[in-house]
Amino acid sequence: MRIDDLPIRDELKGKSPYGAPQLDVPVLLNTNENPYPLPEALVARIAERVAEAARGLNRYPDRDAVELRQGLADYLTRSTGHPVRREQVWAANGSNEILQQLLQTFGGPGRSALGFSPTYQMHDLISRGTGTGWSQGPRNADFTVDLDAALAAIAERRPDVLFVCSPNNPTGTAVARETVLALYQAAQAVKPTLVIVDEAYTEFSHQPSLLPLIEGRPLLVVTRTMSKAFGAAGLRLGYLAADPAVVDAVQLVRLPYHLSSVTQATALAALEFTDTLLGYVDRLKRERDRIVTELRAMGLAVTDSDANFVQFGEFQDSHGVWQAILDHGVLVRDNGVPGWLRVTAGTPAENDAFLDAVRVVTKNSGVTKN
Ligand SMILES: *Cc1c(COP(=O)(O)O)cnc(C)c1O
Repeated sequence: MRIDDLPIRDELKGKSPYGAPQLDVPVLLNTNENPYPLPEALVARIAERVAEAARGLNRYPDRDAVELRQGLADYLTRSTGHPVRREQVWAANGSNEILQQLLQTFGGPGRSALGFSPTYQMHDLISRGTGTGWSQGPRNADFTVDLDAALAAIAERRPDVLFVCSPNNPTGTAVARETVLALYQAAQAVKPTLVIVDEAYTEFSHQPSLLPLIEGRPLLVVTRTMSKAFGAAGLRLGYLAADPAVVDAVQLVRLPYHLSSVTQATALAALEFTDTLLGYVDRLKRERDRIVTELRAMGLAVTDSDANFVQFGEFQDSHGVWQAILDHGVLVRDNGVPGWLRVTAGTPAENDAFLDAVRVVTKNSGVTKN
């Protein structure tokens, strides 16, 4: 039997599960992970805190994750300079679960979400998975949000949920504060709309966090993750900051005890090492900027990046170039954006391997457009 022979929901028919192909090659630069393993001192601290948590595993975890939410609120306050209280923060198993809870609460059958393409594929997939209609507006040629087209799409689609991904995956493009404000206002003028600002990569950005915008805007939610800047993708810890009423609202759909004691203990240990972990962010930003500079020096088109990855092109046959780079032992990401590929900033040695591969692959004329 095949999936489509099963009586699954119509909006899931013909869809593929999310996931980059994971191949066994020396250099993996395809999933925007942080290349630096956690420092040994943190590994030891995690073991300690998890052992402590293990002694209480006969009990359910703290359902409201009070200590962890306080820790995340403190981190947000310290890193943005904007005071954030625990009541404004909610945590879950990855920011994807946060997004799912938001769509279960504010989307659903008969409702719709709008994003600006190309963007993070999970916004589309989580919308469909929660029965929320999905539509997408275009971007400018430089992949910034086309404000006029966006305002027209809001008026036409009348979305219940609006996704603003900043910095945007897979393009690396940050969204200007004024643009977010204009989108928020335009959406509210049509109907009450939840505006989700997905800041998964904000720690890598040249521009400050959009988090202060939650003040006085009860329908603006900022989502964050420990998967990228904190180098803890395996931990599965995402969170949001918003008006306390939004935090109260998602309680209606979250599964009881969704965040295990082990996860909470591990995340708290990681927060104790915030400064060390964010030290790697500076290294990665420098490497990201080096990749941009070197690819441009090769004559390639490179989208300005505020993230830990770089979109580059513009290729006649981007999938062919993806394969050719892979033949050199380097796995990058083909997100299906015609003409473009995406590479994650890795260690200096990994980035050198990538740049060497690209240099060889693109030396023949006819590989790029123009
Ligand atoms: C990686 C990523 C996330 C993070 O997902 P987690 O579930 O927290 O690992 C969220 N949004 C975007 C745009 C991403 O690229």
